[in-house]
Amino acid sequence: MIKFKGIAAATGISIGPAYKIGKEELTALKEAIAEKDIPLELQLFEEALIKTRKEVIELQKRISFEMGQEEARIFDAHLLVLEDRMLIEEVISRLKKEKLNVAYIFLEVLKKYADIFSKIEDEYLRERVADINDVGRRILRHLIGKERPGLSDLKEKVVIVAHDISPSDAAAMHKQNVAAFITDIGGKTSHTAIMAKSLEIPAVVGLQDATLKIKQGDMLIVDGLTGIVMVEPDEETLRIYQQEEKKLKNIADKFLLVKDLPAVTLDGREFKISANIEFPEEVPSVKLHGGEGIGLYRTEFFYMNRKDLPSEEEHFEAYRYVALHIKPDPVIIRTLDLGGDKFLSQFEIPHEMQPFLGWRAIRFCLAMQDIFKLQLRAILRASAYGNIKLMYPMISGIEELRQANNVFYQAKEELKKEGIPFNENIEVGAMIEVPSAAMTVDILAKEAVFFSIGTNDLIQYSLAVDRVNEKVAYLYEPAHPAVLRMIKNIIETAHKVNIKVGMCGEMAGEPNFVVILLGMGLDEFSMPPQVIPQIKYLIRSISFKDAQEIAQEALNFSTGKEVEDFTRVRLGELFK
Ligand code: PEP
Ligand code: MG
Repeated sequence: MIKFKGIAAATGISIGPAYKIGKEELTALKEAIAEKDIPLELQLFEEALIKTRKEVIELQKRISFEMGQEEARIFDAHLLVLEDRMLIEEVISRLKKEKLNVAYIFLEVLKKYADIFSKIEDEYLRERVADINDVGRRILRHLIGKERPGLSDLKEKVVIVAHDISPSDAAAMHKQNVAAFITDIGGKTSHTAIMAKSLEIPAVVGLQDATLKIKQGDMLIVDGLTGIVMVEPDEETLRIYQQEEKKLKNIADKFLLVKDLPAVTLDGREFKISANIEFPEEVPSVKLHGGEGIGLYRTEFFYMNRKDLPSEEEHFEAYRYVALHIKPDPVIIRTLDLGGDKFLSQFEIPHEMQPFLGWRAIRFCLAMQDIFKLQLRAILRASAYGNIKLMYPMISGIEELRQANNVFYQAKEELKKEGIPFNENIEVGAMIEVPSAAMTVDILAKEAVFFSIGTNDLIQYSLAVDRVNEKVAYLYEPAHPAVLRMIKNIIETAHKVNIKVGMCGEMAGEPNFVVILLGMGLDEFSMPPQVIPQIKYLIRSISFKDAQEIAQEALNFSTGKEVEDFTRVRLGELFK
């Protein structure tokens, strides 16, 4: 058995034979043409553009009908390529000048475009090369009159293995025939990965040259959760994964039944379940899994893998898109949380001995107010288009919160002067992820209207356990009595001053801890979209009274391990 590790693009486990699809080569013979044939070639080009446009619009309509409008938007990029005046005019003028067949000229121009895009630093734009090539292939097929073998006629359930898969090929995969797909290239923001998530086809991308080593028909196990692909597994591994696959499917189907129902306990107490996202492309998944808004929109992504800084416009467009598609539900945008384990290429930040305790998050923003204000302006501008809220990361005391609000106030004043609309009453909250904040919630309440507990950091800071150091990972215990007491204290103190408390750390999406948090009266749970149905199912299957008892008892244990053992047993009893 060989094992490969790639980037987990869409979660789930699938097993099936490899079905390799080769790269469709973009080729066209070079042929000289006579002067009199120029109009004919130009007409051929025009017809190919029209046919391709029709094809893309039809595909877009089908996707919109089958999967929703957001997914169909992926093909907007294809339509833009088809309408690109520069590209079209370059083909026309070169054809007239060089007197070569249009297919060849078109291919040359297309390659030049793809080349320019592939050299752009920005990962998102770089990945648009796939759109250019995808639509280019379609045009070329019309120019040389060749048909593309369809992926939709697959007869048995297979794992598609390819160097790359275009979004339109991904869209053409019929769910029942494609068990999973794996590719050598691609990243988390590639449209193909987005498609896989929307289609709920497990997918692993970025396997480098792994697909070269896989042969047609090889038995594969694709684990879209960990990004692991196993080739020709032994009987025992196969058996384990087959069982796992079946189990996951049955359970997931059951969970999905309740995804659009409210998260209300058996005795009628309602909780809010929202999603954590990092990219606007995750909006469809939030809706698909029944998210009631976005409880954490991490914004570091804008600054990664590039040399320049994102513009206000770039921030604004993304926030507006998310707000428009999630409204009337709220979208909580968290301002830049640089530092710790997230280093951004643009800033030459000196190496720090303890980066998690150093120049991070709000500390960085308050020192770099231009960068901070630019983001705040974009958030404010987008607030005119939906229900946007704002929250600051890593607040350690009220002074920081006041300073941040001061910059926010300046941003508001600027926009007012410029006559740019925004929501005057936009809500501002603070993340509670530093113990000093956890102990001064009543004071912070003077400057914030909501709180969101960031347990990923709160745990590392209160237990003094670096969250990225595997050597001390055994000490990282969400159910440690100190953590549970702190969370209880945050919720109770906030409720006394009529402030709602959410949680957006990973703890909020783990059933073992959710039962305790429910009993403590946490108001909102924010988690990765895929786990929402499961958590809704859990909440709908328990009474608030039972959860309160479980929380009460959990607080009596001396260690995190005892708490976890206890909740596991209680959940087992509740769910058989
Ligand atoms: C947290 O700390 O719990 C949190 C949600 O923020 P991040 O994981 O981005 O630090
Ligand atoms: Mg954090």
